[in-house]
Amino acid sequence: MAQFTQPTSRDDFHVAVICALPSEADAVTLLFDQFWDEEGDQFGRTSGDNNTYITGRLGKHNVVLAVLPGMGTNTAASATANLRSSYCSLKLVFLVGICGGVPKIADYDVFLGDVVVSKAIVQYDFGRQYPGHFEVKKNVEDSLGRANKDIRGMLAVFETELMRDRLQTKSAMYLKQLQSAAAKKRRRAKYQYPGIAENRLYLPAYVHRHVKSCDICSECDSTCELAAMTSCADLGCEAAKLVKQDMPFEDDSNFSSTIFIGRIGSGNTVMKSGEIRDWIAKKHNLIAFEMEGAGAWDEVPCLVVKGVCDYADSHKNKRWQDFAAATAASVMKAILDRYIVTDGGQRPVAAQLNGGAGQGKGNSTRSISGNTFGDNVRIVQGDMTWNGT
Ligand SMILES: [Zn+2]
Ligand SMILES: [Zn+2]
Repeated sequence: MAQFTQPTSRDDFHVAVICALPSEADAVTLLFDQFWDEEGDQFGRTSGDNNTYITGRLGKHNVVLAVLPGMGTNTAASATANLRSSYCSLKLVFLVGICGGVPKIADYDVFLGDVVVSKAIVQYDFGRQYPGHFEVKKNVEDSLGRANKDIRGMLAVFETELMRDRLQTKSAMYLKQLQSAAAKKRRRAKYQYPGIAENRLYLPAYVHRHVKSCDICSECDSTCELAAMTSCADLGCEAAKLVKQDMPFEDDSNFSSTIFIGRIGSGNTVMKSGEIRDWIAKKHNLIAFEMEGAGAWDEVPCLVVKGVCDYADSHKNKRWQDFAAATAASVMKAILDRYIVTDGGQRPVAAQLNGGAGQGKGNSTRSISGNTFGDNVRIVQGDMTWNGT
């Protein structure tokens, strides 16, 4: 077995993982093979950087993990800037965690626990969201950049059947490892598959709200705060409004995450409307919604790997968050296994971004994309079919 020695400085770290939530970081650290900071932080940070880091090893890579102090693109941008200033030799940065999914991608049904990987990040701007309607400031994609060569090259290998096969097998294996590590450590998070009966997708226009005796809910189909905190069962959301989905797996015992690669929408607003979700997704050809990608991308090109924990509509709840964080962490580690660090020849990601395609900081929608793939590519676990659209 290969021996791994403790890195001597921050320059020995080429890979970083950023998580927006402590619970997302918990899932990732369950897959660490070794920690370098059990005796305390050995590597320090530059002045002005107030991030706290966890360092260790994932497979053959030294990895530094940072947890953001809050959600949203601005927080992600400043924390990522600090990460980049302390760890100057980073070549690959992952943003790992949970997201809201788009229910259908290229005719395939998306299930909670599936994982999306960014081919591109699209920052959209809602302008202002009013109860019951919204106003978009601007919707022009005003600048385009590309993911760096490293990331594009790595994603491209998953176009081969052999690599796809390996990625799927590895992800499923890591998920099992993570689940058993959590059980051994008696973690409180629920990393087991919650069951297909809990995977409810409602019609886009069907709003999660009090049916009677609530002034706020009866106004413009909006949802009051109390209703938002109440489960669909307690609120009485109707089973007749559920969407029938085409299951690629037989039952709970053989669920495995499907991996979708495509454009991920990133914004500061929590997406919680089925109709707005579908409208924005269609307009920008998005496969998921999250809140940090665009901010982190401003500082370093990164690969967003996120587990779908809800359908970004008014019925969203926290039930699937732990499981989705676990599937995302497992796919990230499987991807990292395929990543090769070349000595010398590569420039750190920050230099590539700064010297790369012009990336304006417009005040409306922008899109940062690689173009290795056609727009949305899907990896299907189980039957190994591959569909590019
Ligand atoms: Zn209400
Ligand atoms: Zn509901």
